[in-house]
Amino acid sequence: MYGTDRYEEFMEEKDVMIRAETILAASRELNTRAAIEIPKDVQQKVEKMASEETNPLSRYVLEKILDNYETAIKDRSPMCADTGLPRYYAKIGNQASIEGGMVALEKSLRQATADTTASIPLRPNRVHPFSRKDHNNNVGLHAPTVDYSFEPNVDWMDITVVHKGGLFGGEYRMLFPADGIPGLKRFFLDSIAEFLRRGMSCQPAVIGIGVGGTKDVCVRLSKEAACLRLVGDRNSEPEIARLEEELIDLGNNAGFGPMGFPGKSAVLDVHIEAAYAHTGGMPVGIQQFCYAQRRKTARFFPDNTVEFREDPRWFTPYYRRETID
Ligand code: SF4
Repeated sequence: MYGTDRYEEFMEEKDVMIRAETILAASRELNTRAAIEIPKDVQQKVEKMASEETNPLSRYVLEKILDNYETAIKDRSPMCADTGLPRYYAKIGNQASIEGGMVALEKSLRQATADTTASIPLRPNRVHPFSRKDHNNNVGLHAPTVDYSFEPNVDWMDITVVHKGGLFGGEYRMLFPADGIPGLKRFFLDSIAEFLRRGMSCQPAVIGIGVGGTKDVCVRLSKEAACLRLVGDRNSEPEIARLEEELIDLGNNAGFGPMGFPGKSAVLDVHIEAAYAHTGGMPVGIQQFCYAQRRKTARFFPDNTVEFREDPRWFTPYYRRETID
């Protein structure tokens, strides 16, 4: 099936491995749970915002968002009619063994995307950018994406699925060292003014900020920061954690409320991730993830048991490592 005798020999040597059928079945379940069930950390923060919002119209909007979360679970239907673009994050243990290898893993994730587009159903949003050709299954050129990270000394694999749109709320700016924190704050305010003013990010939203690296790295980190950390989680560097809290305060005191209405409930959280950059620059990416936070994680063990959870645990100490080890 996989084309090489060497691979078959390798498989026989292994007594335990994560099976392709386990990955397929659990990935279907992951997509279903992500589309329907709001994570508790998000729900609890929206409840707090609704209880504290002083603008009556904005409080009403937040209450309707909470009603919508409950209706989705009761009806087993997606929490938003726009089910976004499914994407995957795979964190693979250095000792993990996957039946069929990485090619089989990617095939299972594509199959699960197509299957659940039909079964939940998800809106088949993915089209060819020129011809607008649509396979009606959210699968196509470079879709869905799978991003990878690795973890030492473990034999499990985590798969996180995120359903995120991508039309609005994403920006990039090349700042310079002299711009510093004030420049970052200005970019943050410009970005939320651009999108939150018109409700284009369907806020309250989590604002992910990637600082440093290169253009592609800071944009990638900003998306991971928006999608793969729990609301309330702070960066492990105290200085960055303090800046996250300062920006939450700034964002919720700039006059923006939920869905473009005035108020103080626009920012669910701010998550910042940093990467070492060229000494002459400070590139910054910003991504906003709406109140319909579709994310779920499954951990696959070699005995083919699967544990589902809400915390992606993507930013491990190893993932954020600064040294050669
Ligand atoms: S931004 Fe979020 S809440 Fe708004 S339409 Fe898209 S998925 Fe739905």
